Amino acid sequence: MALTREQLIAPCGLDCALCYRFQRRKDACSGCRGDISDKLKSCLNCKIKNCALIKNNTVEICSDCDQFPCEAIKNLDKRYRKSYRLSVLDDFKRIKTVGMARYLREQDKKWACTKCGETLCMHKDVCPSCGEPREYYDLDTGN
Ligand SMILES: [Zn+2]
Repeated sequence: MALTREQLIAPCGLDCALCYRFQRRKDACSGCRGDISDKLKSCLNCKIKNCALIKNNTVEICSDCDQFPCEAIKNLDKRYRKSYRLSVLDDFKRIKTVGMARYLREQDKKWACTKCGETLCMHKDVCPSCGEPREYYDLDTGN
């Protein structure tokens, strides 16, 4: 069964809807919280997915954890800031500020291609549908 929009926010804060593995047509991933049978090894070995607190459902999303932000989340944030100009720590802050429902609406707007309106991919510089270069927002100002 397909995950809901909210369930597509992985425990680490990454939005599965923006992942190339979720977006691809062939052998698509159902999302971090989906069935494990369609996961790549790198996802199955994910430190956050394998965190004991996540695995036994003590924590649904990392920002609710007593240990937040732990080393694993800080490392992920660093890696995604550098490679994809995306910050899960900033996104967690936004979720806390505006609530999940509004965050998801903002997210869908923010990640829609300005040219064709299709969903952009966080791992790609151009729109997967029409090839329009993705507009990066400023990580420091959020604009
Ligand atoms: Zn496009």
